[in-house]
Amino acid sequence: MKMILLGPPGAGKGTMAARMKEELNIPHISTGDIFRAAIKNQTELGVKVKAIIDRGDLVPDDLTVALVKERLSEDDTKTGYILDGFPRTSGQADALAEFSAVDGVINFTVSEEEVVRRLSGRRLCKECGTGYHVEFIPPKKEGICDKCGGELYTRDDDQIDSIKNRLNVYADSTEPLISYYREKGLIRDIDAGQNPDDVFANFKKVIS
Ligand code: AMP
Repeated sequence: MKMILLGPPGAGKGTMAARMKEELNIPHISTGDIFRAAIKNQTELGVKVKAIIDRGDLVPDDLTVALVKERLSEDDTKTGYILDGFPRTSGQADALAEFSAVDGVINFTVSEEEVVRRLSGRRLCKECGTGYHVEFIPPKKEGICDKCGGELYTRDDDQIDSIKNRLNVYADSTEPLISYYREKGLIRDIDAGQNPDDVFANFKKVIS
């Protein structure tokens, strides 16, 4: 199955994709993860996109499309894939339609208030990358990783100004894709405001 996950930042697309990838045994392709890995490894791509991502703006279409096109040409995507965070603009959606036909688009819906609560509370370990949340998954000792004792930090794009910008960018550039795919009869909506187990149960139901 070839599917796209749509929804605002903080809707839980990454979490759901990671679980569904195990269920269906198909690759989870997250453009955000690809960019973050490039930044961490200080590749040419990483250096190019770092400031854009820290602000919460979008990486230009040509760069993003080329990256996804190349990834979707790999053998492991032949039977299916889960695209998480792509497409994000109508230009990207048009480009994707030229090189791959998706079977369905899952639209995860969640309130803006909940998005801010989820993103602003996220913390990551500087050493091992383990994720926490000040409210939902707090570390035993504030600011310190339970697993390795590393220092916890907030991603630059999870700072409040970037979160607000990401939500504006989502409303302006990405939300219109919901009608684009709905007109093609491809959209299935899922309430992503519930707890992750319930969201995943609904996700599985919709897929089947
Ligand atoms: P995400 O982890 O999906 O929220 O993505 C993190 C950041 O990576 C976004 O805020 C954008 O700056 C960038 N990004 C990810 N996917 C795309 C895309 N399809 N088009 C443009 N920028 C993207």
